[in-house]
Amino acid sequence: MLTQLIERLPLLKGLLDFAFPPLCSGCGAYFDEPAGICPECLEAIDWYDDPFCLTCGDFVPRGDSCSRCGEDSFLLFPGGNYTDPLKRAIVNYKFHGAMSLAGVLSERVIGCFESRILGLQPTLLVPIPLHPGREHQRGYNQAAVFAQALSRLLDLPVEEEILHRIKKKKPQARLRKSARAANVRGVFSTDPEAAAHLAEARLLLVDDVVTSGETVIEARRTLASSGLRVVGAISMAHGL
Ligand SMILES: [Zn+2]
Ligand SMILES: [Zn+2]
Repeated sequence: MLTQLIERLPLLKGLLDFAFPPLCSGCGAYFDEPAGICPECLEAIDWYDDPFCLTCGDFVPRGDSCSRCGEDSFLLFPGGNYTDPLKRAIVNYKFHGAMSLAGVLSERVIGCFESRILGLQPTLLVPIPLHPGREHQRGYNQAAVFAQALSRLLDLPVEEEILHRIKKKKPQARLRKSARAANVRGVFSTDPEAAAHLAEARLLLVDDVVTSGETVIEARRTLASSGLRVVGAISMAHGL
């Protein structure tokens, strides 16, 4: 509606561009497209072609589970490697509201992994929640925005009531690997009443960036303790 209005009013568009110049979220160059990231940056992103097993830390070139981990497999379907320009685009997405990136990344992830994701027979998307204080400060949960974009492509509902963040954690990137698991222990809780209604559900966790994987592993552990089944995870980026 607003876009249509702006298209009919070139002067207004000119003024808006002057006040909020449309810039590529990856490189900062002027880029007047709704995608929010320019073709050069899309080309420069180191995209993943295989899911990654969060249990053993190896790529899984085929199948619904990791051959090494079997039943204990936990597959992550990531967009690209968490390096520039994707890293810069995601930082802009998180902190400056460059929301259009969710659309571009969801199309890439589903375009690449759709049949393997559907092979896990997911029924619900569950975004990793922010601490309520942090969400209030930022105005939105970036993982939930990404989950909504995935929801349209996979035709799966988004469930935001089942998983809650009850504690803030220190940023994982500043910690040694051994300290990361301890840092996320107990940060989530589930609502037992909501869990009772979802006993048959097959959940896919959604986060913006997965590094060591401790956060999504802890979310899965918390959901499993309420009898809920997580079948995999999707992220915009993955990096160690
Ligand atoms: Zn760019
Ligand atoms: Zn594995």
